Amino acid sequence: MTYETDSAASAKLAGTSTLDVSRIRTDFPVLGRMVNGHRLVYLDNAATSQKPKSVIDAHSEYYSRFNANIHRGLHTLAEEATSAYEDTRKHVANFIGGVDSREIIFTNGTTEAINLVAQTWGEQNIGPGDEILITEMEHHANLVPWLVLSQKKQAVLKRIPLTGEGRLDLGNLDNLISDRTKLVAISHMSNVLGTINPVKHIGEVSHSYGALVLIDGAQATPHMPINVKDLGADLYTFSAHKMLGPTGVGVLWGRADLLEAMPPFNTGGEMIREVHFDRVSFNELPHKFEAGTPNIAGVVAFDRALTYLEELGMENVRQHEIELSGYAIKRLLEIDGIEIQGPLDPQLRGGAISFTDATLHPHDISTFLDSKGIAIRAGHHCAQPLMRTMGKLATARASLYIYNDKDDIDVLVQALREMRRYFGL
Ligand code: PMP
Repeated sequence: MTYETDSAASAKLAGTSTLDVSRIRTDFPVLGRMVNGHRLVYLDNAATSQKPKSVIDAHSEYYSRFNANIHRGLHTLAEEATSAYEDTRKHVANFIGGVDSREIIFTNGTTEAINLVAQTWGEQNIGPGDEILITEMEHHANLVPWLVLSQKKQAVLKRIPLTGEGRLDLGNLDNLISDRTKLVAISHMSNVLGTINPVKHIGEVSHSYGALVLIDGAQATPHMPINVKDLGADLYTFSAHKMLGPTGVGVLWGRADLLEAMPPFNTGGEMIREVHFDRVSFNELPHKFEAGTPNIAGVVAFDRALTYLEELGMENVRQHEIELSGYAIKRLLEIDGIEIQGPLDPQLRGGAISFTDATLHPHDISTFLDSKGIAIRAGHHCAQPLMRTMGKLATARASLYIYNDKDDIDVLVQALREMRRYFGL
């Protein structure tokens, strides 16, 4: 069946890229590096992005100027650290469409955010015979927590299959969702296929059966404008490190009424209101879900990453990637023996481009490219069930971001051609 993705609809922007890549590149110190005697061509952005100087500086400035533990102290440093941390929370709330900042829970990443939901909401709401619906393209982070929960609760884990083009096959959706479906957990953008899923449409169908919708936005949030309410999500998760921010910081956004009804996740300091030896009451949102000392420096520096992306404009980021993905796909397909997994139309996908060579192993491709200073990823990309569905052991994946340009793609294509010649292909 054919359908238009939500974001493809909103991303049909006219004109050419408005990103000034050569200026952007000067903000990223690591891009000035030589690797194995060559200019670094960083094409592993789906794994993690590089960081601009403003983020690196904010991290170090936090430690050199106002390091203190947050929320508890009454001294100046503690107040400064608390307000910087809480400012990022407000910033995140605005970045994903202007939600209530009490609905922003900081975690250490998407993985922890999804586990939080599985171990709190899931523990409370999933029982024998209930169904959880995922897709065949999920990252392990949005699969294993639901598999473990289903097995523990004797619930049923179902999945939306894929078309040959690596899009969701929604032809049978009404048979996959029923009154027994309690949760639909889907990725917004696949880290392997690049596919942008029609999460809004799936959300509408899910809600009509009373199911909650969790969207794994780890790949989408760095690359396109996100408005969680407009998408119709109940829960949305993402990681700072894939969007110019530090590692060890992630976000769970959830509707306040849902989060309020959920039991706490980790217990201990900070998440309590009152503790006695025989009873405890819990803090209000968002603190109820943030036990212990968080990654304060990381959260504080994440603020600059959001500012950086906002200054570029997320519509421009998306437009740049549509153009560059289109160019990369075209150039890669010019090479004999190369096959691309996932949709070929850049309007339907992001910049994570998985490919295989008829003869060469993805690990060998990655090693050869590294010798030319080109960083890509090879493997199962934390999506082993998807690999089996595609009949592949592994793929090579080049993934793009704001500081990549056509030159990077040309270097990649030239190296791939050289490698094929080297192996007599
Ligand atoms: N979901 C998707 C789609 C991802 O690409 C990733 C990271 N590769 C994750 C979840 C997990 O993110 P993290 O490792 O930051 O927790």
